[in-house]
Amino acid sequence: MDNQHSLNEFHWIMDMVQTIDAGLVVLDKDFNVQLWNGFMSNHSGLSPRTVQSAPLFSHFPELPETWLRSKIESVFLLKNNAFTSWEQRPYIFRFNNYRPVTGISEFMYQNMTIIPLASLTGEVTHVSLIIYDVTDIAINRMQLDKANAKLAHLSQTDTLTQLNNRHRWNNLIDSEFKRVKRYEQISTFMMLDIDHFKNVNDTYGHVAGDKVIAEVSRMIRENMRETDFSARYGGDEFAICLTNTTANNAIILADRLRQVIENTVITDDDNNIKVTISIGMAEFTANTDTVDTWTKNADCALYKSKENGRNQYSIFKPRR
Ligand code: GH3
Ligand code: MG
Repeated sequence: MDNQHSLNEFHWIMDMVQTIDAGLVVLDKDFNVQLWNGFMSNHSGLSPRTVQSAPLFSHFPELPETWLRSKIESVFLLKNNAFTSWEQRPYIFRFNNYRPVTGISEFMYQNMTIIPLASLTGEVTHVSLIIYDVTDIAINRMQLDKANAKLAHLSQTDTLTQLNNRHRWNNLIDSEFKRVKRYEQISTFMMLDIDHFKNVNDTYGHVAGDKVIAEVSRMIRENMRETDFSARYGGDEFAICLTNTTANNAIILADRLRQVIENTVITDDDNNIKVTISIGMAEFTANTDTVDTWTKNADCALYKSKENGRNQYSIFKPRR
């Protein structure tokens, strides 16, 4: 009766092992397959009889052999479970993805647990791999990450110009201020403002005005270095931080931008619009005690350019 009962139990367990919605594989120390359940047969297209004919790796050349061998060997050695997630390695076995909801992935994302299987004497003679299909979770997570990245970008970017917005600028200039202060480096804060921009709006309308702002921004983007950062500071006002650059060297960008913008005709409908910009620059010095001071200094130089007739640059001169 007892024997009959344990026989039944064995059959039940085997039925469950065969039908469970996870991959179950038992390997011996030579990586020969001892058990290969229904999930593994269905997704690989290989029957237990086929996979049992040779070591696992010969049937699946896509398996990361070196990595998986050392993972499995450590389970034999330490007699501890090991776990791998789809984030480290999207899949172990390259199975197709058949999930209807997440049909956008061609393959099945997998997590895997490796557990040591001990004999009655306590010796670990086999390991079991448990393969979980986590395609739905992985796809959802990746879509969420993508949406979050997009949101982060949106919250930091000015829509009209695709430059950093003021909020993002504040964070960037804050870090830059701390960096130059700590490492006693030199960076230059450049403030730019379109001359008589109100006239553009008044003469050609707001839509044309928007186009001018967008085009000026494009020229700023195209002329600055990758290590510099910029932002739309306000309506027709822009800021650029030239890292590791003295004000004297920043003149090169200032004058190039001034000339490029002066010589560019911006067309909107039948209108050919030309604008100029004024620029103020302030180098970080030992006297620049806060970001506010740095900003005010650049602003002050910009004001000077405006006062002196616009379409020019000025450098802030600290009082000694
Ligand atoms: P200045 O040479 O002294 O800088 O003269 P300005 O006319 O450029 O200066 P002011 O600051 O008086 O005018 C800026 C104008 O920019 C006022 C505002 O209506 C306009 N403006 C601000 N943001 C936008 C925008 O997003 N689109 C458009 N079309 N106009 C804007
Ligand atoms: Mg202006």
